[in-house]
Amino acid sequence: MKQLRKISLLFMSIAMVLVIAGCGAQSKANIATTAKETKTINWGVKADTKLFGLMNIKTGEIQGFDIDIAKAVTKKILGKDGKANFVQVTSKTRIPLLKNGNIDAIIATMSISKAREKQVDFSNSYFAAGQAILVKRTSSIKSVKDLNKDGMVVLGVKGSTSVINMKKYAPKAEVLELDDYAQALTALKSGQGDALTTDNGILYGMVKENSDFAVVGGTFTHEPYGIAIDKGQGEFKNEVNKALAEMRADGSYEKLLNKWFGDIPGFSVKEASQQ
Ligand code: GLU
Repeated sequence: MKQLRKISLLFMSIAMVLVIAGCGAQSKANIATTAKETKTINWGVKADTKLFGLMNIKTGEIQGFDIDIAKAVTKKILGKDGKANFVQVTSKTRIPLLKNGNIDAIIATMSISKAREKQVDFSNSYFAAGQAILVKRTSSIKSVKDLNKDGMVVLGVKGSTSVINMKKYAPKAEVLELDDYAQALTALKSGQGDALTTDNGILYGMVKENSDFAVVGGTFTHEPYGIAIDKGQGEFKNEVNKALAEMRADGSYEKLLNKWFGDIPGFSVKEASQQ
């Protein structure tokens, strides 16, 4: 009899665990549905990255290529009165903010990588970036190889693939990790490092306002950007991919690429659009 009670108790606890687990899975809202109900998509975007997502302090608006893509994708999915709501993220905070449901998607200079694919899903690529370095124009550093020496200090941003890649491309250099790109650029300008490393497009954005710095040596990685979406949101991911494909087909994608990158010396819009 005692044995029987023990067994039935065991079954009851297993059943309870299953019910709780089931509730947990259900409590994650279907973003494709909630976006249509609220007529809003909540996008995690950079606000410190010129050309991709930068806060305009005069208007309080965030502007850039990622922002324009997010706005266009929102309209394609939700129609004319669909609203793109922007939440600021950094390279380090973007995945946690997505995982805890604060944002519906990340469009923030985020490279598709195997490691990240364990946590999130990605849309098809919308920008073919590659890592490069930024140095003072007068610097003797001409490529990433010149950084592979004891005593070299390379500046980067926490949570970026760029700082991880340094272990491979310049293992002897010390990597100093800052919280965001505004801080990393300030550190470079004040001489706290010999170079700053991240994607070429981001670095060109920095050069635009700091002409005594230059991007040197070309790109040494291939790291296309994708829109990150939480796992289990396949319907929303399909909608995003469909919107991106429509933008490529109707010319609006190319228009935006040219708007932000068309006049940048040394930057190939054609290469950036490759999938
Ligand atoms: N694309 C790289 C990454 O996803 C560097 C840019 C960034 O920090 O967002 O990590």
